[in-house]
Amino acid sequence: ATTLASALLWAHLSAEARREAISALRFVETRMLDIETEMLRLGEGASEYASWSECGPDLARLLTRASITSTLVKRYELMGANEANSCRPDGRAIAPLLSHAPSERLALNSTGEISTRVTATLRFDSIGRDISAVLDARAFEPKQQDHDSWLYASTSHLTLMSRDENPLAVLGNDDDSDASPPVLHAVQTSSRFDVMVVAHIERSRFVAATRRWVGAAIGVTWLLLLVGVMLTWRRALVRTRLYHRIARGLRRREFEPFVQPIMDLRTGQCAGAEILMRWAHPQRGIVGPAEFIEEAERTGLIVGMSDLVMTRAAHRLAPIAVRYPDLYFSFNLTPLQLAQPQLPRRLEEIFTDDTIARDRVLLELTEREFIDPLALNRITTLQSNGWRVAIDDFGTGHSSLASLERMTIDRLKIDRAFVSTIRDETVSRPVLDSIIDLADRLRLPMIAEGVETQAQWDYLADRGVQYAQGYLIGRPMPITAFVEWLARQDQLTPSSVPAVVPGIAGDANIPDVAAQRLWNALRTPGGLDIRDRMFHLRTYTNCFVGREAVDWIVQHQRVSRADAVRMGQHLSALGLLSHVVDEHDFEDAELFYCLATPRDAGVALGPSAAGLSALLRGPQGVSVTQHTRGLLRHGDCATGKAIVTWIATSLRVSRDTATRLALQLMREGAIRHVYDDKPFTDSRALYRVV
Ligand code: C2E
Ligand code: CA
Ligand code: CA
Repeated sequence: ATTLASALLWAHLSAEARREAISALRFVETRMLDIETEMLRLGEGASEYASWSECGPDLARLLTRASITSTLVKRYELMGANEANSCRPDGRAIAPLLSHAPSERLALNSTGEISTRVTATLRFDSIGRDISAVLDARAFEPKQQDHDSWLYASTSHLTLMSRDENPLAVLGNDDDSDASPPVLHAVQTSSRFDVMVVAHIERSRFVAATRRWVGAAIGVTWLLLLVGVMLTWRRALVRTRLYHRIARGLRRREFEPFVQPIMDLRTGQCAGAEILMRWAHPQRGIVGPAEFIEEAERTGLIVGMSDLVMTRAAHRLAPIAVRYPDLYFSFNLTPLQLAQPQLPRRLEEIFTDDTIARDRVLLELTEREFIDPLALNRITTLQSNGWRVAIDDFGTGHSSLASLERMTIDRLKIDRAFVSTIRDETVSRPVLDSIIDLADRLRLPMIAEGVETQAQWDYLADRGVQYAQGYLIGRPMPITAFVEWLARQDQLTPSSVPAVVPGIAGDANIPDVAAQRLWNALRTPGGLDIRDRMFHLRTYTNCFVGREAVDWIVQHQRVSRADAVRMGQHLSALGLLSHVVDEHDFEDAELFYCLATPRDAGVALGPSAAGLSALLRGPQGVSVTQHTRGLLRHGDCATGKAIVTWIATSLRVSRDTATRLALQLMREGAIRHVYDDKPFTDSRALYRVV
């Protein structure tokens, strides 16, 4: 900062000195022109005094006539061939001081007194004599009332010099004439007269200015540092806040699997799907991974999140896997997940013959993992246990070709960046082509990511790429939507007949009939003991105990205890039952769980609570009025209590269920907090019905 400040100061002072030299010179030139005009007037009257050749009354008269009032003229000098006459402005002769060449307009007085001589050469009489005026140095001192205040404000030391660098006068008020050597100067030369002005910045001034500037620079540096520290601190705060938000989201099991179909480019049929994580945020709706995956990976939360999403996906996709036996499902694994020693065991627990069989699961790993020897080791172990792996985002990292050759990789996913370069199917893209070429030679089936246009599809199909994934085919969607999407595909290809099971909520297709039956049996008379329960002074409404549910399933379904737990977990993954505060998966323990209401069940899996929100808004819906909170008035809104009461009475459900339904409505944007920043609560808080 100090160096920068000094450099800036140097530049600033140089510019200032130059500016001051220019204006000083301009001032000097104006003064000289004034005097030249006076001399000219003097010359006009001179011919009448043709005999005048020396100082005396003639000259005095001449001066009066020409009304030379200039107090600047010290004396006039008359130049002859070999003599010089010198007289005062009143015409009295004085001894000539200096003989000089008339061409020299400015000179230093021989007595050492600094005076400036301006010579106007005139045809003075028939003989032809030149007259010149010797001026006082003060001629160049601006008067206080002059506009030329530059001289008073000047920071530099200004000297008027002749062309040959003889000092003629010091300009301006030089009262603080400290004689420290100049460190910086600027020169301006007149084009009109033989003079120049030199502006010096003296050492003492420079030092003083430096002190000021460096002081300021240090101040600014501190300020910047402070701002930097504050920004970093804020970022850290935002990060930890994000961390806590994700952690809370995980505790509340808010992460959901979405799926994006993958098409076979040769047959045009769905070949599989990639499972992509979404955060079903209670206030913000569906949030994509861009906002949280990096932080989740950095802090290790990804392990739990991914476990949750994989489990949910495996259970919810199980019926689809049965109905469409050719589909495969791919899951993303981050380096941190791969490094978990318990990963193989978890994969085995999640992907079973009851959910999705191992050989239909594809694990997507980025190129980075294929370079790291430790990770490579883990991958080979997974492969030897029957897991299939794909290289994700191929082409963006530096994969080692050696490992590609050595290993049996099941799929290679060409990164979106390369696919997006295809604008037109006829213009070839050499980089993409060479990736395709390489995969072909290694006999690796490829999946092109991010296929958005027909031209891209055609280009890839032309070059023998086997699979495609992208918006052209379908965006990532909830599993229920995927079921519908698959059914539509079936209609397009009449060979297979869709078998869509009507869902319990009417509009939602819940394909898992066995799970629905169990869920129904649990909630009807003869089922579980569902009632309000107290724990730690809190009442949980309409719930049952996990352990009792396991007992019930064992007894009524004639299965082992382990299987009963698995069935409970399956229901939980399907959203048909949940922990009272959403903090545990289903367990064989003294924990409280609730069963989804018919509508809830539809909501958890189905498209939306659209019907309910329409009712809520309708003429029989909840009444919206004006409310006052503090000093503020809110029009057209309802309290959380009123909304819960309305849902509970119109659907004949418990307040607890009604609260959860309201939460769901909020998630879908049908209810909004007046300040848009609070989740739904059964309280005096105000909400708008949108
Ligand atoms: P990815 O594995 O490369 O996933 C593909 C991404 O491309 C997805 O973004 C998908 O929505 C997007 N995409 C698909 N087709 C198109 C298209 O035609 N055009 C464009 N512009 N984009 C397309 P998404 O879902 O936002 O996921 C981002 C990344 O987050 C994923 O990249 C993956 O690395 C990570 N991720 C997502 N879900 C999970 C998960 O469950 N576990 C882990 N570990 N990572 C996940
Ligand atoms: Ca992927
Ligand atoms: Ca990818």
